[in-house]
Amino acid sequence: MFEVSNQPPPLEPYNLFASDAVLREAVRRERAEWAESQLTALGATLGLPETVQLGFDANKYTPVLHTLDRYGHRLDEVDFHPAWHDLMGIALKAGLHSSPWADPKPGAHVTRAAGTYMLGQIESGVYCPLAMTYGSVPTLRHAPAIAAEWLPRIFARDYDRRCRPAKEKTSALIGMGLTENQGGSDLRTNSTRAAPAGDGSFRLHGHKWFMSAPMCDAFLVLAQSAKGLSCFLMPRWTPDGTRNAIHILRLKDKLGNRSNASSEVEFDGAYAQLIGEEGRGIPTVIEMGNYTRLDCAIGSSALMRQAVAQAVHHARHRTAFQKRLIDQPLMSNVLADLALESEAATALTMRLARAYDESGDETSAVFRRVLTPAAKFWICKRAPAVAFEAMEVLGGSGYIEESILPRLYREAPVNSIWEGAGNVMCLDVLRAFERTPNAGDVLRYELGDTGDSRLQAFAERLHRRLRAVDRNDETQARALVRELVLALQAALLAKHSPPAVADAFCASRLNGPSGGAFGTLPRGVDLRVIAERAAPLS
Ligand SMILES: Cc1cc2nc3c(=O)[nH]c(=O)nc-3n(C[C@H](O)[C@H](O)[C@H](O)COP(=O)(O)OP(=O)(O)OC[C@H]3O[C@@H](n4cnc5c(N)ncnc54)[C@H](O)[C@@H]3O)c2cc1C
Repeated sequence: MFEVSNQPPPLEPYNLFASDAVLREAVRRERAEWAESQLTALGATLGLPETVQLGFDANKYTPVLHTLDRYGHRLDEVDFHPAWHDLMGIALKAGLHSSPWADPKPGAHVTRAAGTYMLGQIESGVYCPLAMTYGSVPTLRHAPAIAAEWLPRIFARDYDRRCRPAKEKTSALIGMGLTENQGGSDLRTNSTRAAPAGDGSFRLHGHKWFMSAPMCDAFLVLAQSAKGLSCFLMPRWTPDGTRNAIHILRLKDKLGNRSNASSEVEFDGAYAQLIGEEGRGIPTVIEMGNYTRLDCAIGSSALMRQAVAQAVHHARHRTAFQKRLIDQPLMSNVLADLALESEAATALTMRLARAYDESGDETSAVFRRVLTPAAKFWICKRAPAVAFEAMEVLGGSGYIEESILPRLYREAPVNSIWEGAGNVMCLDVLRAFERTPNAGDVLRYELGDTGDSRLQAFAERLHRRLRAVDRNDETQARALVRELVLALQAALLAKHSPPAVADAFCASRLNGPSGGAFGTLPRGVDLRVIAERAAPLS
C-alpha cells in the first residue's frame, strides 16, 4: 500500500462563524453583535463533518419528480433525499427563512444574512426556497387577510416536509412563478390568464417555464386578469383540501444547484387569491425581488468565502518545491487576490443587509434601491471566477467532486442569471439613479473621506460620471455599475479592514479595468497578511 503524505487534513469540523474574521467584524459593525452567540452555534453545526456530508448527499441524490400515482391520478410531488430535509430543518430552526419578519429588531436582517452566508457555504440548493420565503413576506402583506393566515406558518421554525394542506402543517414555505418561456426579464409578456371564480378567488390557466422548489406550500405568481398583470398566491392545496391544479411537467436538468428542484409547470384552472391591487402585479411582486436579489449577493459571497477558505486551508498544508504553497511568493499573490475579492463581497453584502434593517431611514431606502441591483450584478459576476481560481489552488484534487470546488463552480453562475440577469440589473441601477434624485448625495456620504488619495480620485471621477448627461447610455451601464460597486467596496475596506487589505484593494481594483487572472496584485502589497486573514483554521 502506498503512503499517503503531503495531503491537507479535511476542513472539518470547523466553526464557520468563529473562524471567519471578516464575517465576525461585519456582523458587529452592522449592528448585529447581539446575535454573535447564536451565529457561533450555527457556525459550529454547519461545520460538523456530518453537516458537510449532508451537502454532498443532497447534491448526489437529486430530486425525483412523480407526476402520477400508481393508478394514474395526478400527484405532482417531488421526492428529496433525507439530506435535503435535514438541511432544511437546520435552516428553519435558525430562522433563515423569516426571522427578521417574525422578530424584527435592529440587526435582524444582518443576522439572517450572516446565517444564510454560512449555510450557503455548506449547501446552496436549500437557499432557494429560503430566499423566496424570506422575500415573500412584504408582498403577502399587500393582502392583510391572506397575510394573517399565512404569516404565522411562515414564521414557524419547525420544518414540515409533508405534502399536505398548509393548515395541517407546522410551517410553510413560499415559492414563486414569474418566468414564462417567452420571456423572464420582460414580465409584461406573461400570458397566464386569471379569471374570477365568483367567490373572491381566481382560477389560473397557463404555464411557467421556471418554478423552483415546487414542493413549497404556496407560490406567488403573475397572471393577466381583466385589469392587467396581477399578483396571486397559489397554494398547493385548495381550501377544500384537494390538490391544486398545478401540474409539474418536468424538472430542469441544471448545470448546478442540483440538490434543488426547478420545474416547468402548467396551471389547469389552479385556485389562487389576489395579492395587492389588481393590474399592479409587477410593483407588488418586485418587493419580493429586492430581497431575493439581496440573497443572490449573499449567496455568491458565500460561495466565494467557501472557495477561498478551502484554497487557503489547502495551501497552508500542502508543500511543493520544499515550501508550503502559501509560502510560495506567486501562490501568496493568488491567495491574497482571491481573499480580497471575498472580503470585499462580504463587507458590501453585510452593509447592504443593514440597509434592510433600517427600513424607516431615507438614506437606507436609497441605498437599498440603488445598491441591491448593483451588488447583485458585480458580486454574482465575480463568483464563478473566484471558484475556478480557488479550484486551481487545489491542483488536480480541486477538479474532483470530493473536494467541494466543482459544486461551488457549477453553482456560481445561477445567482447572476436568476432574479434578473446582469444586464437587467445594470439597467435597473440606471433607472434607480434616474428616479432617486438624492442618490448621488447618499453615495457621496457613504464613500466619505477615507484618506486614501486613490479612492478619492476614483470617487470624484465616479461622481462626475453620475452627474454627466450621458449617464443613461445603456451601453456603458455595466462599466458604471462596476465602478460604483468598486468604490463602495474600497470605501468599506478603507474604513474597516486592516490597512494591508484596503491598500491592496485600492492598488489593484481602482486602477483601470480589472480582468483576466487572479494573482496580479502589484509589488509592495502585504500578501501574507491578507491571505492569512482568510484562513479558516489556525
Ligand atoms: C436555476 C434557475 C432557477 C430559477 N427559478 C425561478 C423561479 O423559481 N421562478 C421564476 O419565476 N423564475 C425562475 N428562474 C428564471 C430566471 O429568473 C430567468 O431565467 C431570468 O429572469 C432571465 O429570464 P429569461 O431566462 O427569460 O431570459 P431573457 O429575459 O430572455 O434574457 C436573456 C438575456 O438578455 C438580457 N436582457 C434582457 N433584456 C435586456 C435589455 N433590455 N438590454 C440588454 N440585455 C437584456 C438578460 O440580461 C439576459 O442575459 C430560474 C432560473 C434558473 C436558471
